Amino acid sequence: MHSTDSHIESECQTLDGMSARQFFEQGTGYTYDDFILLPGHIDFSADEVSLETQITRRIKLKTPLVSSPMDTVTEADMAINMALQGGIGIIHYNNAIEEQQDEVSKVKRFKNGFINSPLTLKPSNTIRDIDKIKEKFNFSGVPITETGAMGSKLLGMVTNRDIDFIQDRDLPLSEVMTRELIVAKEGCTLEEANQILKESKKGKLPIVNEKYEIVALISRNDLKKNRDFPLASKDNVDKRLLAGAAIGTRPEDKERLAALVEAGLDLVVLDSSQGDSIYQIKMIEYIKSNYDHLEVIGGNIVTANQARNLIQAGVDGLRIGMGVGSICTTQEVMACGRPQATAVYKTALYAQEYGVPIVADGGISTIGHIIKALSLGASTVMMGSMLAGTEEAPGEYFYQDGIRLKKYRGMGSLEAMKKGSAKRYFSEGDKIRVAQGVSGAVVDKGSIQRFLPYLVQGIKHGLQDLGSRSVKDLHHRLYAGQLGFEMRTHAAQVEGGVHNLHSYEKTFV
Ligand code: 5GP
Repeated sequence: MHSTDSHIESECQTLDGMSARQFFEQGTGYTYDDFILLPGHIDFSADEVSLETQITRRIKLKTPLVSSPMDTVTEADMAINMALQGGIGIIHYNNAIEEQQDEVSKVKRFKNGFINSPLTLKPSNTIRDIDKIKEKFNFSGVPITETGAMGSKLLGMVTNRDIDFIQDRDLPLSEVMTRELIVAKEGCTLEEANQILKESKKGKLPIVNEKYEIVALISRNDLKKNRDFPLASKDNVDKRLLAGAAIGTRPEDKERLAALVEAGLDLVVLDSSQGDSIYQIKMIEYIKSNYDHLEVIGGNIVTANQARNLIQAGVDGLRIGMGVGSICTTQEVMACGRPQATAVYKTALYAQEYGVPIVADGGISTIGHIIKALSLGASTVMMGSMLAGTEEAPGEYFYQDGIRLKKYRGMGSLEAMKKGSAKRYFSEGDKIRVAQGVSGAVVDKGSIQRFLPYLVQGIKHGLQDLGSRSVKDLHHRLYAGQLGFEMRTHAAQVEGGVHNLHSYEKTFV
């Protein structure tokens, strides 16, 4: 802490409760549920609260929320929707280089209102195939291309009107598709496309390049519900959505990084469960000397010593958390880690002197945890299990005991490591793999488009109760000793949860 800050702290101790410094200097490791924050004075409305924050030295976000680089959490769909709401998604790397590059590129190519990866079929597919798509995704209007893939020559469209009354569902689409199409040229604006759709009275408008290959699709239904996203996280160059991705720290990850940068990557997260290593330091130095514009988040770490090493190597942000993820068994298996509240406070206290923001990663299961992480000095919060049940997370829903669920697995689970994620846990090539995570399921949470605004509103109310108008103000008051902390006994935790009811239901949004 700067000497001026300690001076402020001694002057402005909280009137009641402990300051963060007093609380965390007791020598015990605390997690979010171990303490409560004392309320402040409210003289503003929740809507006035600004959640603007830094995720790295140079990247600002309007929403302090980040989705975790896990293969059951973040691919393009999640990353696009996180960025639209002012946060950012970090695309996982448990896949081939080209696959991850493709996901990054989908984020960078995203244009509000344009569907960049519509389902397409080929002429030899049958009406029955369209029926299956309709049943599963509830939409009609399928482009037919030469190879059946996007980026291939557009031959026709099949809509409900073409197939509604045909009995023989095994007819090939080549016999029923509409071949004379109204299309728009690649590069057209949403307003121009909108105008063409209005005039043509069609439901779908394919966008093609000069070779008549389909590059996107616009749907009338989507246009009708098209929303503005005033908080969207965009780059400063050409105002495209911000894309983040994770990589490992092995020599071959340099090749992966080159491919991601080519696709327009803005932010790279070096993904290790114990990030204070010579491998990571070398990788940070390599990135900083080869990619000027790219922001690097190092981690994961939990101590000030670890933070010092990565800051010296040149990181632009730090990711905090070891063994606290909901699917994680690191502390059990490795006897190493730290309770998350102490980890966030101690690393943030050190890193703020160097202007390096902290991402509090893992262990978030309520809005209250997010508010506590921010109150401890974190600038953003990374979540896995909170987001894995949303529609935008990869994977299909399934039912178990009548409940709609989605799969969620640790990247250090045996299941994920079999697919390649062993790099994160230093066990690639080991004959015996030691798992540091489990595979499970989480409950359906609906769409991120509704869930994230709900979280954001909750965080604003939390900051209001604390008497802070912004994340910046919260941090100022934290280091000035003006935020009141108090330990919760076990009984206090029980009292603070729902209790004494015969039954109750907890619903989101
Ligand atoms: P959650 O939000 O579910 O509590 O935690 C997500 C975080 O857990 C991830 O961002 C990542 O840091 C960490 N994580 C993901 N998979 C594993 C794993 O298998 N083992 C461990 N130790 N941590 C994991």
